[in-house]
Amino acid sequence: MTNSYTIVDHTYDVVVVGAGGAGLRATFGLAEKGLKTACVTKVFPTRSHTVAAQGGISASLGNMGPDDWRWHMYDTVKGSDWLGDQDAIEYMVREAVPAIIELEHYGVPFSRTEDGKIYQRPFGGMTTEYGEGPPAQRTCAAADRTGHAMLHTLYQQSLKHDAEFFIEYFAIDLIMGEDGSCQGVLAWNLDDGTLHRFIAKQTVLATGGYGRIFFSATSAHTCTGDGGGMVLRAGLPLQDCEFVQFHPTGIYGAGCLITEGVRGEGGYLTNSEGERFMERYAPSAKDLASRDVVSRSMTMEIREGRGVGANKDHIHLHLEHLAPEVIHERLPGIAETAKIFAGVDVTKEPIPVIPTCHYNMGGIQTNYHGEVVTLKDGNPDQVVPGLMAAGEAACVSVHGANRLGSNSLLDLVVFGRSVANRCAETVDPNEATRPIAKDATDAAIDRFDRLRHAKGSTTTAELRGRMQRIMQNNCAVFRTGEVLHEGVEELKKVWAAKDDIKVSDRGMVWNSDLVETLEFENLIGQAMVTIVGAENRKESRGAQAREDYPDRDDENWMKHTLAWIGEDGNVTLDYRPVHMQPMSNDVKAVPPKARVY
Ligand SMILES: Cc1cc2nc3c(=O)[nH]c(=O)nc-3n(C[C@H](O)[C@H](O)[C@H](O)COP(=O)(O)OP(=O)(O)OC[C@H]3O[C@@H](n4cnc5c(N)ncnc54)[C@H](O)[C@@H]3O)c2cc1C
Repeated sequence: MTNSYTIVDHTYDVVVVGAGGAGLRATFGLAEKGLKTACVTKVFPTRSHTVAAQGGISASLGNMGPDDWRWHMYDTVKGSDWLGDQDAIEYMVREAVPAIIELEHYGVPFSRTEDGKIYQRPFGGMTTEYGEGPPAQRTCAAADRTGHAMLHTLYQQSLKHDAEFFIEYFAIDLIMGEDGSCQGVLAWNLDDGTLHRFIAKQTVLATGGYGRIFFSATSAHTCTGDGGGMVLRAGLPLQDCEFVQFHPTGIYGAGCLITEGVRGEGGYLTNSEGERFMERYAPSAKDLASRDVVSRSMTMEIREGRGVGANKDHIHLHLEHLAPEVIHERLPGIAETAKIFAGVDVTKEPIPVIPTCHYNMGGIQTNYHGEVVTLKDGNPDQVVPGLMAAGEAACVSVHGANRLGSNSLLDLVVFGRSVANRCAETVDPNEATRPIAKDATDAAIDRFDRLRHAKGSTTTAELRGRMQRIMQNNCAVFRTGEVLHEGVEELKKVWAAKDDIKVSDRGMVWNSDLVETLEFENLIGQAMVTIVGAENRKESRGAQAREDYPDRDDENWMKHTLAWIGEDGNVTLDYRPVHMQPMSNDVKAVPPKARVY
């Protein structure tokens, strides 16, 4: 079959897969360093999910009150429920300040204070004085369209530099050498049906999250975790996938996000009795407690019969009391989204909301240079030569068991940049690229060909729907051993049913049926490691809340999960210690304690 495809070979110093915030920051950084760089993306760059980010990007600029990167570090470690690596966290929060100034100089149109500085709003879990002081105003915002402003600016910067874009090319699989190193990526040009091999000294995966394993998700339909899928097929593990963040305020029914910025500006939640119930669950932070706390509190209210609506299955978010100018100036997009997707006029009525899958803390294991690492010969931090990752696809790990709002946009630019810096040190543009083995892409092309001609009886949409419902019902905010176990068994049936998959379109040009099938294969691998990891982890920490194990268990579980998957869908697990020491002596390690807000 292989020889019936037109294959085009390209050679680059570095190939970046993905053109969201992380991919673009890496791409132009690499080009700026004089490396020959290709950026391969399945959607047009400015359509990447980063465009949808609303609330903002964190940095301790201190424009609106005292702030310190050490406080930001403390909050991030605490937010991570002590599963984040403190060296990587220190790196990120220190780099945050120059990273934001850099974005400002690149032209991101941030909102401004009276005296012309970047406007910063409070966000959940962001405090001062190591949690002892009032909430920090740390989240830099361009109204409620921060991601849009950032992504467009980053794309403009990319065009200024000499990077080559391969737009609407779908990356299928990594090209792995016999020695376990990565030598590039195989991609499919959706527009003319040709296959392309990008052979490179470094391959950077910046493919975003895999929120679409769930039925209700705030992320775009394109967030199918293709990078993670490729990594699992290459025989490498993913880290901490059981930690999935649910955003407290997705619009009931549609899933669209209502930013935390709404609560930052003074919005609040009520139950069917009109009670501001967050005052009971988080007496001091209230509606601005961190996301897992708010999501769980909302779910508790609903489970105890105090949900709103005919089915008592959601919660109200109020902004009616805010001054119309605040809504108009700071939250215009929200007013529009609520009108379109919930039919609500936010100046008069509350928005119906429900916890919705929002972010994947887990992903491709990397160090803070962006190099992919794996457990090999007893070394948990062995670098995989030729392979890097950044953004939501990666797990550095700076978010640990729970990400704080506005720390992800930061992660994108800090680690996208760090990838470029590392490549400038490790990649020699004058060195010849190592040729790939003759049969290096045979297996990947065979898989592609098999799916293209699949003539079973179950459509991809049917299988995907089954997977999404299992994940939503058995692996969402509330988790028990029994429910998770049932979910694992059910998901195994979906895995087995892949043998009976049906693809109707046999074409090579704009075959969306086949694209969705390839995406589904990537999703289901990640759904499997997510639910198996959740069943395995017998404690509650951050986003993993087990009703049968309600406490955090540092003695047995303060460790990262590593998960591999076999062709039969069986998951193998192992662990990696958490890095408890910061990178420098400028700050002390944050010792574990109970996480209360
Ligand atoms: C609605 C919403 C609001 C958010 N708001 C905030 C916020 O206010 N603050 C914050 O810090 N975080 C926020 N987040 C989280 C944050 O926006 C995301 O984590 C982040 O944008 C992910 O960026 P990324 O660069 O990793 O990936 P993405 O932006 O998702 O981009 C992925 C890229 O990979 C490419 N790609 C994927 N698969 C393939 C393939 N097979 N072949 C080729 N290309 C491929 C895509 O074309 C795309 O260019 C929000 C998330 C959502 C969903």
